Amino acid sequence: ADLKDADLRVLEELGQGNGGSVVKVEHSPTGTVMAKKIVLIDAKPSIRKQILRELQIMHSCRSPYIVSSYGAFLSEPNICICMEFMDKGSFDGIYKRIGRVSLSVVRQVAYCVLQGLRYLYDVHRIIHRDIKPSNILCNSLGEIKLCDFGVSGELINSIAHTFVGTSVYMSPERIQGAEYSVKSDVWSLGISLIEIALGRFPFSSDDTGDDDDDENDSDLDNSSDNDSDLDDLERRKRVGAEDLARTATPRDSLLSLTNNKTKRRKQRQRGSVGGAMSIIELMHQIVKEPAPRLVLPGEEEAEEFVDACLVKDPEARKTPGQLLVSPIFFWGCKVWWEVCVD
Ligand code: ATP
Ligand code: MG
Repeated sequence: ADLKDADLRVLEELGQGNGGSVVKVEHSPTGTVMAKKIVLIDAKPSIRKQILRELQIMHSCRSPYIVSSYGAFLSEPNICICMEFMDKGSFDGIYKRIGRVSLSVVRQVAYCVLQGLRYLYDVHRIIHRDIKPSNILCNSLGEIKLCDFGVSGELINSIAHTFVGTSVYMSPERIQGAEYSVKSDVWSLGISLIEIALGRFPFSSDDTGDDDDDENDSDLDNSSDNDSDLDDLERRKRVGAEDLARTATPRDSLLSLTNNKTKRRKQRQRGSVGGAMSIIELMHQIVKEPAPRLVLPGEEEAEEFVDACLVKDPEARKTPGQLLVSPIFFWGCKVWWEVCVD
């Protein structure tokens, strides 16, 4: 139960986000392989203790749709969170590696995320707050689970800049300053599903006012030139974050981004700002323009499902529980039938 750095042998680096990095480690005493998330936080000791207490909730989450936690500990100046290692990584990595994710897998992702969201909310009254492809993980058993959910309010406050990258998945009501609700997560799910199904982020400056065209382009291939698109997407997301930093309103913790890391990255990337859509433009688009859609020939049910996630009015948007009874989830029987006939 008491994890410490001395017992954890680093095997490899798994990835890096805005708020820290994740490494694959082996817990020597037990031989258990884990993913260790290292978060640098800028907080007083009392706040750190509070964060650790809050992270305990994560330990009590037991669901096949939630990445399990082995525990968290302080390793000054970091907080380390040890969690279940998911050997296929996250869906952003998956689509960047294999290209567009097939619709049957997209359905599975939708199903597991909704189940995870429902579990977090119904059992623990937790709203995830950070649904995006990099927080949806997969393993070779075919399990799909959520990680990085907002268990700790203090942690969220202490690493506010971490949530900047997330802003591109933010719902219109959140952008306009409303409180988070479980329905904001449903919006982010809709955006994430389009992203993995198309193999690219659904918003771009080229799309403005001409959305359908792009989304109908179903035979966009995933060959080499897609790579540069993806790099461009990453750049755009980050550049966007820095734009936001420049015009930040300190009132909203999401917008107070004046930390050194951001500044450094801003300097590094200043050269690539040209042409990219700024986060301000993007937010304007999210709030003012019709929501993006997933239009794939012969896939009306999937289209309707994504439309339901991306209803702009949160009052009219469905909850995870309501979405779980969508017709697209009757497919389970179909797969079983297909498997049997084969
Ligand atoms: P952000 O910091 O903006 O939230 P992120 O989600 O990509 O972005 P991290 O949460 O630090 O950043 O994760 C970095 C990467 O580590 C992820 O993209 C994912 O691929 C990998 N990763 C995270 N948790 C696990 C895990 N439990 N098992 C395997 N890989 C993981
Ligand atoms: Mg993450």
